[in-house]
Amino acid sequence: MNIRNPRNGQMDYVLHEDDEKSIIRKVQDLRSAQTAWGQKDISSRVAILGKWLEKINEYEPKITEQLSIDTGRKRISHTEFHGTIGLLQSLMYRAPQLMQYPANRASFTAPSVTIQQKWVPYQVAGVVSPWNFPLLLALIDTIPALLAGCSVILKPSEVTPRFIDPLEQTVLEVPELASVLKIVRGGAEAGKMVVNLADVICFTGSVPTGRKIAKVCAERLIPAFLELGGKDPALVLKDADIEVATDAVLRSCAGATGQACQSLERVYVAEEIYEPFTKRIIEKAKAVTLTTDGKTGQMGPLIFEQQAQKIQDQIDEAIAKGATLHTGGKVQDIGGGLWCEPTVLTDVTHDMSVMNEETFGPVIPIMSFKTEQEAIEKANDSMYGLSGSVFSQSDEHAVAVASQMDVGAVSINDGSLTNKVYDAEKHSFKDSGFYGSRMGDEGFLRFFRKRALLLQSEHPMKMEGFEESKTD
Ligand code: NAD
Repeated sequence: MNIRNPRNGQMDYVLHEDDEKSIIRKVQDLRSAQTAWGQKDISSRVAILGKWLEKINEYEPKITEQLSIDTGRKRISHTEFHGTIGLLQSLMYRAPQLMQYPANRASFTAPSVTIQQKWVPYQVAGVVSPWNFPLLLALIDTIPALLAGCSVILKPSEVTPRFIDPLEQTVLEVPELASVLKIVRGGAEAGKMVVNLADVICFTGSVPTGRKIAKVCAERLIPAFLELGGKDPALVLKDADIEVATDAVLRSCAGATGQACQSLERVYVAEEIYEPFTKRIIEKAKAVTLTTDGKTGQMGPLIFEQQAQKIQDQIDEAIAKGATLHTGGKVQDIGGGLWCEPTVLTDVTHDMSVMNEETFGPVIPIMSFKTEQEAIEKANDSMYGLSGSVFSQSDEHAVAVASQMDVGAVSINDGSLTNKVYDAEKHSFKDSGFYGSRMGDEGFLRFFRKRALLLQSEHPMKMEGFEESKTD
């Protein structure tokens, strides 16, 4: 596969795909190795991941260099790397605390029976990840699955595959880990193979692909943890601090060029502060700079060509239907890369795709509202329910509004806090996801099946106990 460089548009990297046989062999090897891995105690697995952590740190320059080429972002690649390290460290600390079986106890319903609960990890976890944060999203499910005692077959996105070589090298240098973590290179076909061979699937990506994977998993009767797209709303209440709200909304909409699932993508502002809010965010959006020279600037290129076209189509459609454009608005080809400045739109309506479909670009469509009830209804008028934001100078007020939003997480007086808070449990509501919280304790515990060992202390009931009663 020839892979495009997002900074210059050149096809300057070749991805050598795993073929069917190689994927099958990898999964077979993982299955054999998992038994011993699953039987190790948690401290042994933590120690092995500790060795991996050292290797990842040793390879930091190579990993971040490749990640920067994959995504066209330097500073964010470093942040992503350190975020991943932080996730690994926190799970290495937390997993042993969570790995506590409940004490044996007599059954409430059959008191002569003692219950011993055991947790049994799935044998092979399949992780399929997207291109927007290639390293973090490849490892966010991989790490807890490994700590739980699963083996992992990981298939990162084919759009951003350069970081795989140095990451794989870190795994190969820890032999105990290399037998239970294997990486597959390729696109949709390789992803399908993983979904068809593993015992539990962790997928991060788009809703259409998530739906296809859910169908396969339903047919196979295996669990699918799906983390999908979003159209996160921000509600700026009349008592919001305009500086706080405009800073957070702009960063959350345009940071990482809007290519984050939890980016804010719709902004609803109380009519009392609509004018000053809009004026201020336009000023701030105009001041944002692009990183086209590779040295300075704040916003990198759009990574995925097809996504860039979708962003342009949404902006064009909105303008054609009556939206007013204040900044940006054009995907530009600069040196072969595709770039888009923060794009503020007003006079938008819910029949525009920029308000009802995921954009995944730095677009800031703003609507005003008269009542908070109207704001909540607008926020909830979406197929998505990933996350959102509320801005108010009263926490109590913000919490009351946030609690009525049909989403899995709400950042209050900030945007996209789920990109740094990994220890709060949250589901992805509606079409934004399915099953189990990836974050918090559940993010680790979901990799176990529960087994009950039932110890009878009395003589077992005899067959005579089943005799038909004469009086029946
Ligand atoms: P995508 O669905 O196109 O692809 C994701 C992965 O699935 C890739 O590795 C791809 O090769 C693989 N794949 C494609 N078809 C497959 C199939 N039929 N079976 C198995 N695997 C298959 O998504 P993308 O464009 O890479 O990522 C962007 C999307 O990811 C956006 O919608 C974004 O919102 C979402 N996302 C969600 C979260 C979250 O936590 N909710 C985080 C990041 C990104």
